[in-house]
Amino acid sequence: MVILALYFNKPGSFFMQKQTYRGRFAPSPTGPLHFGSLIAALGSFLQAKQAHGTWLLRIEDIDPPREIPGAADDILYTLESYGLEWDEQPLYQSTRSEAYREALLILERMQRIYLCGCSRKEITDAAQPGEKHAIYPGTCRNRLPAGKSARALRLNTQGIQIRFADRLQGEIKHDLERETGDFVIRRADGPIAYQLAVVIDDAAQGITEVVRGSDLLEQTPGQLYLQQLLDLKTPDYLHLPVATHQHGQKLSKQTFARALDTSQPIPALIKALDFLGQSPPPELHEANLAEFWHWAISHWDSRHIPNTRTIAIAEQT
Ligand code: GLU
Repeated sequence: MVILALYFNKPGSFFMQKQTYRGRFAPSPTGPLHFGSLIAALGSFLQAKQAHGTWLLRIEDIDPPREIPGAADDILYTLESYGLEWDEQPLYQSTRSEAYREALLILERMQRIYLCGCSRKEITDAAQPGEKHAIYPGTCRNRLPAGKSARALRLNTQGIQIRFADRLQGEIKHDLERETGDFVIRRADGPIAYQLAVVIDDAAQGITEVVRGSDLLEQTPGQLYLQQLLDLKTPDYLHLPVATHQHGQKLSKQTFARALDTSQPIPALIKALDFLGQSPPPELHEANLAEFWHWAISHWDSRHIPNTRTIAIAEQT
């Protein structure tokens, strides 16, 4: 039996052909988890668990100026208190600089990245009227203008069109150069940008579906382009609605979203399930964590998630 089991589980054998689901939650340790983060954690967890898949945790700690000491441990503790148990060792992006450096070398050899000497102010000043955020106009794409010193590394997006189908938000068509612009791959102050790190690590962790907030939908075309350049598999994407305050601002540390209460996980979990369109029954309020998860996993239906980008919530949990 043991020998048979070993044979059948050999990579490449018939029984391993079907790809197993691998999902992830990838918080940045910039503060404690709040209701907005719980939605992404819950949605990605339930997608993975219902598919009998694996749910991974990645701590995106490559932006030291924005990080808060102790926040990563606090996130782990909160997830555990909510019964959101990850399946493999958490991956810390701060340990991954070698992999990012290799990717930069590949892009450099392909001549897809270049040094940019523009300051943030120069880019904002050059923005076209009506632009939501300043789109980099490609000033240093062909060469660093005289008198400028090299700052950030940018990816050349000239002429690139991206199309993909988000599993919730539908068909996305994106003109990368016009709508995103040549985006930063390594920042002027040193760190690798989120865009590159996320692509490398989703591939390294073998992620088959990315479930996260729709605030990251606009970043996704750039990620797909990097996957193409680096010859990495593109996972499926499902961008969940994001919780906003009544006046439309996304719940975040900056908008004073309250930290999740680790002593009472059930009310916030039920509210998050409800937010994701799953209609939890009133009896679930009496449930313990094990009963909650049993109900949530067996009733999870991604077709009931509202396919909008944002939902305003009445009050914070
Ligand atoms: N670290 C990112 C954040 O906390 C999420 C990245 C992702 O899910 O791709 O907003």
